[in-house]
Amino acid sequence: MKLPGSPHVAYRGDVLMLEDCPVADLAARFGTPLYAYSQGAMHSALAAYQRALEGRDHLICYAVKANSNLAVLQTFARAGCGFDIVSAGELARVLAAGASPSKVVFSGVGKTRAEMREALDVGVMCFNIESEAELEALSAVASETGRTARISLRVNPDVDAKTHPYISTGLKGNKFGIAHERAVAVYARAAALPGIEIVGIDCHIGSQITEIDPYLDALDRMLDLVEAIEATGVTLHHLDLGGGLGITYTDEQPPSAGELIGALLQRIDVRGHGHRKLMFEPGRSLVGNAGVLVTEVLYLKPSDDADGKHFCIVDAAMNDMARPAMYEAWMGIVPCRLRDGPPVTYDVVGPVCESGDWLGRDRALAVQAGDHLALLSAGAYGMSMASNYNTRGRAAEVMVSGGEAWLIRERETPAELFRGEHLLPT
Ligand SMILES: *Cc1c(COP(=O)(O)O)cnc(C)c1O
Repeated sequence: MKLPGSPHVAYRGDVLMLEDCPVADLAARFGTPLYAYSQGAMHSALAAYQRALEGRDHLICYAVKANSNLAVLQTFARAGCGFDIVSAGELARVLAAGASPSKVVFSGVGKTRAEMREALDVGVMCFNIESEAELEALSAVASETGRTARISLRVNPDVDAKTHPYISTGLKGNKFGIAHERAVAVYARAAALPGIEIVGIDCHIGSQITEIDPYLDALDRMLDLVEAIEATGVTLHHLDLGGGLGITYTDEQPPSAGELIGALLQRIDVRGHGHRKLMFEPGRSLVGNAGVLVTEVLYLKPSDDADGKHFCIVDAAMNDMARPAMYEAWMGIVPCRLRDGPPVTYDVVGPVCESGDWLGRDRALAVQAGDHLALLSAGAYGMSMASNYNTRGRAAEVMVSGGEAWLIRERETPAELFRGEHLLPT
């Protein structure tokens, strides 16, 4: 059986393997629900970007929010990556993982003054500014602390990324970025403000993008702006084209990182901008296909009606993996050990008390209680979006390389979940 996604997740005979580790063995050793990641898959996804950008002044900033485990960040830091962060919490994580602040860009529409101060103290490479009010605030914070904030403006190019509305960010009417028409004026304002040094321009049009055209449209709009802005005497050293490249969950056929970057470089060169430092902020495409969420089948609940639903109740739930409940996302669900016997069509659901708590609908599976299942392509926006809803401790995480597996996050215990809560005095 051929699986969508990474070759690092594949059947060997009847046994689902993550690199050289049987996934069911990981479940037995570390318990379930369990996030398991292939370090090889992360390395090869990153290498595709690095190869495509070889010989160019560039920085790949892994978007931490896709999967913020320290060992994942460490893996990318060691491989030469920078980081795209959206909070002081993520800043603390990348520093704890050994990243250099000089390779960190700070994105997000709602940076607080306290977060700005922390980022200035450690000396992040660049703030991606998303509004005029934020620009004024950063100037004030930088001036107070006697520091200079390097900035780029995140411009909203008003292009349709043709993805799910919740993960489309580059259209007018999204909360992200500065309107294209305002950009020249806001750069002029930035140039006049104390404590601010302009270093680049940035855009990010959405996530799970499976076509090259929206990127080329956004690039053209950005290059038009770069030319207009530089005509006013402002210099932009780098061009940050964001992240958003999609992955294969089922039958999507996104361009490879090499194809995407090849097309962008060609357009950049044709338009005479080949000297600029290029930055990318990929998240999902570096980690998504590298991970699986392993879960145990607790109960099968067949329907008596001929046309009724059969339920496969598993120990992972929407608090572990929110994507199906949140975006109606389709994720592959496969047995960790294939069994003989006719498949039955199940809705695969978790124990959380919500009808929206489902992981997959109408899935043909030959399973019994006690079997392990794997949700495929679960490495991005899985654990990083996990919650403690229903007072469920978050899953353990392991990193696999070859035949080795390391626990990279312990399973949360109930006592940890209410540590910090207080009973009222008697
Ligand atoms: C989320 C995000 C990314 C990463 O998006 P992916 O779709 O995971 O590649 C990059 N840049 C910014 C500003 C983001 O908010």
